[in-house]
Amino acid sequence: MPVNINGYNKIKEQLQPFAATLIAVSKTKPAEDILAMYELGQRDFAENYVQELTGKYESLPKDIHWHFIGHLQTNKVKYIASFVHLIHGVDSEKLLIEINKQAAKVNRTIPCLLQVYISKDETKFGFDEKELEAVLQKISNNPSLFSSIKITGLMGMATFTEDNALIESEFAHLKKIFDQVKIKYRNSSIELTEISMGMSADYMFALPQGATMIRIGSLLFGERNYKPS
Ligand SMILES: *Cc1c(COP(=O)(O)O)cnc(C)c1O
Repeated sequence: MPVNINGYNKIKEQLQPFAATLIAVSKTKPAEDILAMYELGQRDFAENYVQELTGKYESLPKDIHWHFIGHLQTNKVKYIASFVHLIHGVDSEKLLIEINKQAAKVNRTIPCLLQVYISKDETKFGFDEKELEAVLQKISNNPSLFSSIKITGLMGMATFTEDNALIESEFAHLKKIFDQVKIKYRNSSIELTEISMGMSADYMFALPQGATMIRIGSLLFGERNYKPS
């Protein structure tokens, strides 16, 4: 299936008033589809599976920014630490510690977004507000323990629903949490600038609520054969 060039141009246009970045979610899609988007000027791509990401990283142009948006297992961090541009879904302190360790080994500082649980779907991951506060507090109190990661923002996923008002309120909730913690930790090593929220079905609700990154897969590359994890 060819990539949706009209869809790409339309989304780029819709993004303009919002100063948000389009992340093209290329999971399950072949390298040729990614190259077609690359030819249009797209440089930010996201993957959910470590093995698939490392394979694509090796075979595709090196100026691509590779985002990891899946549920990252601690034992797989080492495979992506040398090149990953941003890890969106960090949802435990244990994972953060492992990312820090692997980043140090390759002399990098890896930018990370903390995933916040904002939806009603039990299959989704993320910190609740209390846990988020606890992990941010720990990082700000112990910067030397986390010197090879940088928390640059928050990520969230809305409920999978037709109820647009619910989706909007969940994105607004994430923005509110973001504004609170951004101020609270502004004098620490934590400098929050990014809110990664919005996918093909709901990015139009995420943009007005303050998304700085939207993660779009099927609208650009067509439907996938298996469900996103
Ligand atoms: C798959 C996936 C997306 C993209 O989903 P689409 O509905 O195809 O746009 C965005 N974010 C995450 C975390 C995903 O897993």
